[in-house]
Amino acid sequence: MSSVMSTYARVDIAFERGEGPYLFTADGRRYLDFGSGIAVTTLGHCHPHLVAALTAQAEKLWHTSNLYRIPGQERLAERLCSASFADKAFFCNSGAEALEGTIKTVRRYQFVNGRPERTRVVVFDGAFHGRTLGTLAAGANEKYREGFQPVVQGFDRATFGDLDSVQAAVGPETAAILVEPIQGDAAGVRVAPQGFLTGLREIADANGLLLAFDEVQSGIGRSGRFLAHEWDGVRPDVVALAKGLGGGFPIGAVLATEAAAAGMVPGTHGSTFGGNPLAAACANAILDIVLEPAFLKQVVTTGETLRARLDAVAAAHPEVLIGVRGRGLMIGLQCKIPNGTLVEALRKHGLLAVVAADNVVRFLPPLIIDDVQIDESVAALDAACRDSAP
Ligand SMILES: *Cc1c(COP(=O)(O)O)cnc(C)c1O
Repeated sequence: MSSVMSTYARVDIAFERGEGPYLFTADGRRYLDFGSGIAVTTLGHCHPHLVAALTAQAEKLWHTSNLYRIPGQERLAERLCSASFADKAFFCNSGAEALEGTIKTVRRYQFVNGRPERTRVVVFDGAFHGRTLGTLAAGANEKYREGFQPVVQGFDRATFGDLDSVQAAVGPETAAILVEPIQGDAAGVRVAPQGFLTGLREIADANGLLLAFDEVQSGIGRSGRFLAHEWDGVRPDVVALAKGLGGGFPIGAVLATEAAAAGMVPGTHGSTFGGNPLAAACANAILDIVLEPAFLKQVVTTGETLRARLDAVAAAHPEVLIGVRGRGLMIGLQCKIPNGTLVEALRKHGLLAVVAADNVVRFLPPLIIDDVQIDESVAALDAACRDSAP
């Protein structure tokens, strides 16, 4: 451990294997994983369909680079586009890269449409877009930028949920608006208020801007729709995906309309690993299951059931929990006690959860949980609240 750069404050637990929604340590302790590796293991751990897809591909071909055609990647792009607003997909390996690709795409769109001065992107308070230099500048957290000056230029910040602030941030150099339909890390699970995303669409249209959504965390079924913005009936121009797309295999994507992607011609962008045969096989296997119409319906039902049960626990422990928010299986528990204390208490009761800003504990369970895991999680939360009540 000591040779690993100290960028994480890690919990002193190592897992040996995973099975569905559960993780096991070498000494046999079992945990219910409601963090999902931060919204990554969409179908839980070692889902048989994913294991089969990955091993079958591993025996045939791992990597060729994007110098050549990759049939699995082409199929993945086609399926992502037919399931969404998009006409084109670019593949990378992570969320931050998907956002970098998104920012490049919106700048390039303005450039090839004769408006090269339009380079700036309106971003929001409570935003998290990743840890690269560009995405740090787009994100809201000042602390993440400390010691990493100079800050990348080209971002103007507006207030999440406040269309007037967006209008005020738009100027002659604005290229696009970039927002998470459900803010995750830096806002502690904040769903865009009703009408906000459609309002952004109107502002974008009125000003010749592109509308880009960061669905790295909210996408791939987590909200109960394939992409979370579908709840709002709004059509974006560009969307960044990653986390849940590979179910644990690293892959990210930039989805775009034909018009938005028109400038992304050979030589403008690239990635050595992006969408390689192994990654594409995993993401295709995820889509096999998530795009089944019954699957997303089940996520909605499961989310409603879990939410109602969590609301009841919160009501029973007002000294620990302020309230529950979120959509589908992207849930935030706002705490009265320090969120880290509750996460630790939950872990003692065998449940893994993740902290977020605004003193929130996030529940991001795999989308395959059923009533058994709902019962277990509710019992763990109830017990953890008892333990940590002041
Ligand atoms: C996690 C996350 C990112 C960054 O993804 P990485 O894979 O860690 O680079 C970007 N945007 C959102 C909304 C995220 O949740």
